[in-house]
Amino acid sequence: MAYGFDTLQIHAGARPDPATGARQVPIYQTTAYVFRDAEHAAALFNLQEVGYIYSRLTNPTVAALQERVATLEGGVGAVCCSSGHAAQIMALFPLMGPGLNVVVSTRLYGGSITQFSQTIKRFGWSAKFVDFDDLDAIAAAIDDDTRAVFCESIANPGGYITDLDAVAKIADTAGVPLIVDNTSATPYLCRPIEHGATLVVHSMTKYLTGNGTVTGGVVVDSGNFNWSASDKFPSLSAPETAYHGLKFHETFGPLAFTFHSIAIGLRDLGMTLNPQAAHYTLMGIETLSLRMERHVQNAEKVAGWLESHPAIEAVTYAGLASSPYHDRVARICPKGAGGLFTIALKGGYDACIRFVDSLELFSHVANLGDTRSLVIHSASTTHRQLSPEQQTAAGAAPNVVRISIGIEDAEDIIADLDQALSKANG
Ligand SMILES: *Cc1c(COP(=O)(O)O)cnc(C)c1O
Repeated sequence: MAYGFDTLQIHAGARPDPATGARQVPIYQTTAYVFRDAEHAAALFNLQEVGYIYSRLTNPTVAALQERVATLEGGVGAVCCSSGHAAQIMALFPLMGPGLNVVVSTRLYGGSITQFSQTIKRFGWSAKFVDFDDLDAIAAAIDDDTRAVFCESIANPGGYITDLDAVAKIADTAGVPLIVDNTSATPYLCRPIEHGATLVVHSMTKYLTGNGTVTGGVVVDSGNFNWSASDKFPSLSAPETAYHGLKFHETFGPLAFTFHSIAIGLRDLGMTLNPQAAHYTLMGIETLSLRMERHVQNAEKVAGWLESHPAIEAVTYAGLASSPYHDRVARICPKGAGGLFTIALKGGYDACIRFVDSLELFSHVANLGDTRSLVIHSASTTHRQLSPEQQTAAGAAPNVVRISIGIEDAEDIIADLDQALSKANG
């Protein structure tokens, strides 16, 4: 029987604990698991039998979460990681190598821009930044050394919706996987695999956990990519020297990427999610659809109110009829454009600083996707490391404030913004 989303967000991956009957997924706070005998141990290490060895690789609480997120995204498997940024490295790791590149959207979370433009160079990888509204530019940027295309579905800091179907087609024609960061949308609002994504990554720190308690990430594998169609992905298609010559694609078929990420990625990079964090995230996901519905409802009300406020120059919410990306909402995220957007203040940088300092209900924090309404002035914080051109391209110009609308009463959110805007204009 095919259950609906609301049922799966509660039940997928969870079954009564075989030892105790515990209904909620227990926190398996253990590092290691006793082998039945030496033969069992050898079979586990040979990946001939799937089971638990050591919690850097696998843990039952984390496994339940992996199955839940994979189910909600429509993937065949998933690998949880210690953060969203860890998930991005884990997604690229089996695909990349020195001298190879990834083609990425200019509209990304600020931390991702730094990770891709600076830090991955240490591995000999590089990123080519392209405006993803220019489809010809994406195709032109892909060269013989490109091993992935990377973008966000609803791009942080909000208001931009990627035409995933069109981008997936370009990646497919070039024979490289499309990786979609679905953090801002969540699988409730957008299911990138249905639009052609090969891998989906999340910062579970945000809406999936939903209340600002956990740092976590996940890579979901669609199982749809033919890693053996070319010689571009030898870690998956050819004998993997890091696992005594095992051919992952031949051995595990559609689960090749997932098994590689556990057997080699987690084993050697060690970016593991801990079971306590997995438990919090499992609990958060149980109410994902309810929260996202309210985030969207509130964001639509608040964005509409802000748009007509005299102190506001622009509101980027794609849920507004005035947004250039409004048409894509119905196709890419039919249940709404999320809870995240930016506003530009007519008063510029100084008004932004007075505005964030005057808010009372909103918290000024470097986070988003919380039950609480949050705000940040990106140019002086998260996007500080970027050049002014990069800031503007990423939607974080000096007069722009990012808002993450919570699930409080919309009237209270609006009242707080109203009094802070009055103070900002002095
Ligand atoms: C927060 C965020 C990340 C990074 O996730 P962490 O859990 O903070 O490492 C990546 N992408 C997007 C869209 C994010 O919002």
